[in-house]
Amino acid sequence: MPTVGALLRGNALPRLECSLLLAHLLQTTRESVLAHPETLLSANGAEAFAELAGRRLRGEPIAYLVGMREFYGMRLRVTPEVLIPRPETELLVDAALRRLAESSTVRVLDLGTGSGAVAIAIAAQRPYARVEAVDVQPGAVELATTNARTLAVANVQFHRSDWYAACRVAHYEVIVSNPPYIAASDPHLTQGDLRFEPRIALTPGSDGLEAIREIVHGAAARLAPGGWLLFEHGYDQAERCRDLMGRAGFAEIATLRDLAGIERVCEGRKPLVPAD
Ligand code: GLN
Repeated sequence: MPTVGALLRGNALPRLECSLLLAHLLQTTRESVLAHPETLLSANGAEAFAELAGRRLRGEPIAYLVGMREFYGMRLRVTPEVLIPRPETELLVDAALRRLAESSTVRVLDLGTGSGAVAIAIAAQRPYARVEAVDVQPGAVELATTNARTLAVANVQFHRSDWYAACRVAHYEVIVSNPPYIAASDPHLTQGDLRFEPRIALTPGSDGLEAIREIVHGAAARLAPGGWLLFEHGYDQAERCRDLMGRAGFAEIATLRDLAGIERVCEGRKPLVPAD
């Protein structure tokens, strides 16, 4: 029977990835794996490790192999049916939280929720908010519901909807979304983790802005007066997103940069009094 230390040393995978797979198999933390290299793995465990390590070497994302990803300090279950939550998307959560007073019973809508990451993070940080989150994929709705339940976040509800199709009119104080925004021709789609993620969550087709257009155009009708729309976009889409927002009648339009300095989130406010 091999020790954890022997597997960590004798493997082509980076040590970090190796320790994540071992922590998953031993149902413990990465820190504990590294602190106890003398731990023995059973024959079955060693076989399972070899299988996972092989899949990782062939490019499968770690998050799918271990079925988990951390986002906003929460452990979320992820499957190949949903996008793997990205650290930069925490910016979208922070930006939405700035528009949500702590003690008021505001209504929030998250479009294309996937694993539920954004909706659950907002709901957890704003216990008085009522968060509704939708996805067109039934598998995502089911997974997000499980994630909220596991994390005991009760003020978020998930249901199936093709963007706004099943959403209420003039109802929400804040609408958020991390939609698919990669252009269909972008070579990144054929590289790294993205090869294994659902296409529908990554690209809306052609120029990458179709989903964003639909979200921006439908937002004014669903937002309460003075409500905010915030969404994530691609590294080169900020100006086109601000344009779309301006033409849709939004005010206070701004672009926010992520920690890497990349323009990443667009926000704007529905005027309190409609412009004529
Ligand atoms: N930010 C992701 C990436 O470029 C894409 C996420 C998305 O399409 N919403 O890998």
